[in-house]
Amino acid sequence: MGFATDAVHAGQKPDPTTGSVSVPIYQTSTYEMEGLGESKGWNYARTINPTRTALELNLAALEQGVRALAFASGMAAVNAVFSMLKAGDHVVVSQNVYGGTFRLVDGILKNFAVDFTFLDTTDLRNVEAAMKPATRMVFIETPHNPVMTLTDIAGCAALCRKRGARLVVDNTFMSPYWQNPIPLGADLVVHSTTKYLNGHSDSVGGVVVAAREEDGERLHFIQKSAGAILSPFDSWLVLRGVKTLALRMERHEESARKIAAFLAAVPQVRKVNYPGLPSHPQHALAKKQARGFGGMISFDLGGYGEAKAFLDNLTLCALAESLGGVETLISHSASMTHASVPPEERRRIGVTDGLVRLSVGIEDVEDLIEDLSKGFAAVERGSVATGSAPSRRT
Ligand SMILES: *Cc1c(COP(=O)(O)O)cnc(C)c1O
Repeated sequence: MGFATDAVHAGQKPDPTTGSVSVPIYQTSTYEMEGLGESKGWNYARTINPTRTALELNLAALEQGVRALAFASGMAAVNAVFSMLKAGDHVVVSQNVYGGTFRLVDGILKNFAVDFTFLDTTDLRNVEAAMKPATRMVFIETPHNPVMTLTDIAGCAALCRKRGARLVVDNTFMSPYWQNPIPLGADLVVHSTTKYLNGHSDSVGGVVVAAREEDGERLHFIQKSAGAILSPFDSWLVLRGVKTLALRMERHEESARKIAAFLAAVPQVRKVNYPGLPSHPQHALAKKQARGFGGMISFDLGGYGEAKAFLDNLTLCALAESLGGVETLISHSASMTHASVPPEERRRIGVTDGLVRLSVGIEDVEDLIEDLSKGFAAVERGSVATGSAPSRRT
């Protein structure tokens, strides 16, 4: 079946009791047994829930994996993946991963005798050079947040296979509509369902999709043991969101392409980062490993003052963390999503004080361009505050 068909139907047979076309929200904690030693296969809702199972079957199909496990947040999904490690293991991580992934490693997992190396995975030679006998996992996110550079998924997969390490890809930015890491050789795919999969900015959740049954089994063990499950209602919301994923992603990208072309011609914009622009240094890789370029753009306005003048003068684009919703969201990476990354580390990974990240929504693109134009006019008027990005302790 095609992607849009699977998005609507995979894992979602009409409810056997009533024929309900929409998978019901099974709001229950437990299930009555038919007799001692006889159950219908459902025992306790931390372990298994029909609404969650429907979502898991659906997302496994969309990512071309064998099993999916849904978690209470994207970070709970990432934490479940890292829970597959043992003391003494070494992990290579993209230096531009989601700020929360960096915080999880730096603030918590470092205490558990697992060794992490953060590096620039745009160059596979760095990945190869960092791999040690103890390397059990390579964790990448591509495109990289928020600089929109790429990592070669198939190239990483080949390196991992040689060394017996798992390749994990956080595919949140692209969604399975544009990019499927498993056919490229990845072992596990992670999503924050909070973003494009749910798509309506009204649920927080995460998923891990496994390419192999044994990893799926282990992840289910971790899911039921640690208990960070997605609720029945959130599972239902994501199922509902995914039905329109194909339509939404087409619109996100169509508008993103137009906006990227617009931004490239704005004098106040120093640099536009969008893999769909032929000027993007990895445009060829983007075309090779994905079916499209997605709806995320970042651009540099030069400094914190310019970024503030710009952002403070927008009315339609919402100044907010997060991405992937139907509404356009815009953020200042240094003071928002990457506030927990130390300033010197931010500079090293290209998160400059003038960098603005745009998650293009599905509104009329003319309205979005008009709104952005108001921001640029404010920068031009020189209503520029001074100073640098404030740091936030989290
Ligand atoms: C948001 C996000 C996460 C974390 O997901 P939550 O649902 O917020 O916990 C992880 N990775 C990426 C790329 C994200 O954008």
